[in-house]
Amino acid sequence: MPALDEKLQKQLSRKRIFGIAAHIDAGKTTVSERMLYVSGVQYRPGLVDEGTATMDFEEEERERGITIYSAAIELPFKEFEFTLIDTPGHVDFTVEVERCMRVLDGVVLVFDSSTGVEAQSETVFRQALRHKVPRIAFLNKLDKVGADWEASLDSIRDRLGVEPVSLQIPHSDGEDVCLVDLVKRRLFRYHGRGADAKLLVEDWSTEDADGFEAERLALVESVAEKDDELLEVFLEEQPIDPELLIAALRRQTITGALLPVLGGAALRGAGVEPLMEAVAAYLPSPLDVEAATALEGTQGKTRELSLDPQAPLVAQIFKLVATRHGSLAWARVYQGTLEQGMQCRNTRTGKPERAQTLVRLQAGDSENLKAAGPGDVIAIKGFRHARTGDGITTIGENLDFASWDFPLPVISMAIEARKIEDRDHLLESLDLLKSEDPTVDWHLDEETDQILVSGMGELHLEVLGHKLERDFKLECQLGKPRVAYRESVAKTIILDEKVRASLPGREIEVYVRLVLEPAEELDQPLALVELDIPASEAKRYAQIIEVAQQALVSNLRSGPGHGYPMTQLRLTLRKIEGPEGLPPAMDQIEIALSLLMRSLGKRPEFTILEPWMTLVVAVPEEYLSPVLGEIQAQGGLVQNVEVRSLLAEVRASAPLSRLLDFSTRLRSQSQGRASSTMQLDAYRAVPEDLQRQLLGLE
Ligand code: GDP
Repeated sequence: MPALDEKLQKQLSRKRIFGIAAHIDAGKTTVSERMLYVSGVQYRPGLVDEGTATMDFEEEERERGITIYSAAIELPFKEFEFTLIDTPGHVDFTVEVERCMRVLDGVVLVFDSSTGVEAQSETVFRQALRHKVPRIAFLNKLDKVGADWEASLDSIRDRLGVEPVSLQIPHSDGEDVCLVDLVKRRLFRYHGRGADAKLLVEDWSTEDADGFEAERLALVESVAEKDDELLEVFLEEQPIDPELLIAALRRQTITGALLPVLGGAALRGAGVEPLMEAVAAYLPSPLDVEAATALEGTQGKTRELSLDPQAPLVAQIFKLVATRHGSLAWARVYQGTLEQGMQCRNTRTGKPERAQTLVRLQAGDSENLKAAGPGDVIAIKGFRHARTGDGITTIGENLDFASWDFPLPVISMAIEARKIEDRDHLLESLDLLKSEDPTVDWHLDEETDQILVSGMGELHLEVLGHKLERDFKLECQLGKPRVAYRESVAKTIILDEKVRASLPGREIEVYVRLVLEPAEELDQPLALVELDIPASEAKRYAQIIEVAQQALVSNLRSGPGHGYPMTQLRLTLRKIEGPEGLPPAMDQIEIALSLLMRSLGKRPEFTILEPWMTLVVAVPEEYLSPVLGEIQAQGGLVQNVEVRSLLAEVRASAPLSRLLDFSTRLRSQSQGRASSTMQLDAYRAVPEDLQRQLLGLE
């Protein structure tokens, strides 16, 4: 990599591209809002409860008070330039979190200090680990009755398997929230409430300094245990000044060996500025993270990208926002410079597209840019065929990014436009939303001609419905949620058959050998054509193989039982011949394969599968037993119950079909105190009577 010039180095070293991730309601939106306020971007904190939060970009979020869609906002902080990428906290939107993780250099994990680590924050933590994103933690809501610093640290240790190091200790003093800063020997006192809360920074010597020094020593020891440089100074019994400690903490946060923990009460503004100082001090700049890589040519050789603005452009779209006026593609530039009006190559389609306008978002206000360089996160207007995950390069650069795996939808609902003439507009809009969110899909039910839209959960689809109304001006009606079934086979089937049919004007006769094998590890079914053909016939068979392959794939999309997509299956065509061993007639291949596949639905090995979810319920202990009863009543298998200091947690597995209004029942069983999350666990065979019913056998 050519050495970057000094000015650019300095500029990059001041950038922090980070996200805030948390369990729903832990206070992520409030923390983000307060950060904007501290940085002076916005003058009045938008309180989530009043529905004015700037980061809750989408209207739904305001209505529901939860953060669903992520937006990137820039905010200055001292000499630093922060880009805050907001991540969703609801489990139906895990894919959104996952896609954000790819562009982040660091993440702040927000926990509610009265509940500690909850299920969704555990999931987010694992995502951050997988993507090697350095982390710091913020224990929020220290003003709340029941807030427990030590129990929260224990839950971090137990559930996340990392060693938390407290950089602060909370210290309550009547109405004031106080935080003792162990690193710089300061005391933060937050006096008053709401937007008018005053921050007083004091020297800690007036307080219980001896006790604080002992805590500081314990902090230094635990950092020195991980950091050799600090250990050396510590063993020489030299004083450990703040700079030395900060440098060691920074090194070990970036390697992931330590999890620095800070705290506060974001609602009162407490602890937010020190948290921002910690983002600057401990989270990496684009210069400190492993260089991003791209795949070169068709061979997929990995190439390291440089942060050089003169190099060819490489950027990645991490989010698409569809609007009536076209879509907005959010991208991070890794290498080179993206200029306004530039023709770029989309790495997935290989086609050129023009980046008409480049936009930077500052707390909801947009600003047009002439160019964006390495480390910039921007929105691009003008791309018409882009999708989430696509790479953008200079024309002629043969680079690509590894593709993203998105889970298949588990739930579907019938959707219709209230005005019949809007149907085509609805279909086009659904296509747009599908390019924005790859976990959304739609298809037509052949029998009823209904449009079925599918996604990751009820909330996911409801939000989609609202979006159609608001952004696409489409009044829609959504039906009842239905489970997205799949089809497969339970045992290997070898079909070795002569397919005969009389169609008007022609007789079909094709001999086929087809092997179907269950393959649990495959989400997308695999269709192979492996014919034993003499070399002399290879040319003649090339087109046959192509036609057969396409026919198999289209049959897999709509299975023989009920037209549900097939899954967990490997399908191999071993033989296809016309009469007397001759090559089959081209126009008979598709018909013969489809007739044969359709006959499968009547075989005993054929199965209909349904999604089973991993269900995690957090519940105060006094409601544990009715909640367990409710799970079991829904056919759920309880796998684990853990009673912790703050909440009990139940882990269970249950069929989604029985969980459709689970959250409502849970609320009534626990007087609204329990919360639950669910995620796809596996597809399992439906009970026999349901299979017979779905196949119309009774
Ligand atoms: P998110 O779902 O993680 O984005 O959480 P929000 O920021 O929407 O906050 C959820 C709820 O917790 C809201 O009612 C907030 O007012 C409240 N909240 C946030 N921070 C604090 C805090 O520091 N103390 C208290 N007591 N409540 C808070």
